[in-house]
Amino acid sequence: MNPTTITHNLQSIREKMRLSAENCGRDPATIRLVAVSKRHPTSKIREAITAGQKLFGESYIQEAAGKCQELETEAAFHFIGHLQSNKAKIAAELFTMIESVDRFKLAKGLQKHLEKLDKTIDILIQVNIGNDPNKSGVVPEKTEELLQQITSLSRIRARGLMTIPPLCIDPLQTRKHFKSLRILSEKLQKKMLFFDNDSIELSMGMSQDYPIAIEEGATLVRVGTAVFGNRPLSIPG
Ligand SMILES: *Cc1c(COP(=O)(O)O)cnc(C)c1O
Repeated sequence: MNPTTITHNLQSIREKMRLSAENCGRDPATIRLVAVSKRHPTSKIREAITAGQKLFGESYIQEAAGKCQELETEAAFHFIGHLQSNKAKIAAELFTMIESVDRFKLAKGLQKHLEKLDKTIDILIQVNIGNDPNKSGVVPEKTEELLQQITSLSRIRARGLMTIPPLCIDPLQTRKHFKSLRILSEKLQKKMLFFDNDSIELSMGMSQDYPIAIEEGATLVRVGTAVFGNRPLSIPG
């Protein structure tokens, strides 16, 4: 894909995001695009940066490490993949937000390394909203307990919830899952379980369904293929 294609894709996604927001009476400025660059080389990320995109999502620690270090001053990275506890140290160093915290053990591991780094970090709780046995994430019924536990960790700011809903053919089903995540976040907000209960992040929606996610309250949409094209099968570098 040539540079103009990434630029063009980004323009068209931003336009669709704006329209979806306006259609449901939301301020487009309250919704951020996370350009998911996993498995794409740094050169593609640079093209997106040139087109004004500063926020990226990565799923593999090893791969992300090189990219984050190389682009440290130009871009911010969210971690959106499954995070093993033994990779907590490097994750604490590299990312501005970890969107995929789904267990207390991992949160405690992050806290330990953040103390050493004298740093705080924003996280989201990944919720397995469809109770899908193939997906990671805390089940909806256990989310409150996990958030409650995390409030004891001084270096970790729980900013909101993230989900990857089960693959649904029917967009109405997908919408139902997004709505469930929003309702869950509102319930937890009433219990004051987030770092800032006046401004809660909801990360949901990917290339296929981000307009629906925005209609249901997403503040972060994670879009890969629609920005960068199909992902290469192997990890670069
Ligand atoms: C890969 C990935 C995305 C992006 O998916 P696309 O369909 O390419 O937009 C979003 N979220 C997560 C958690 C991912 O792993």
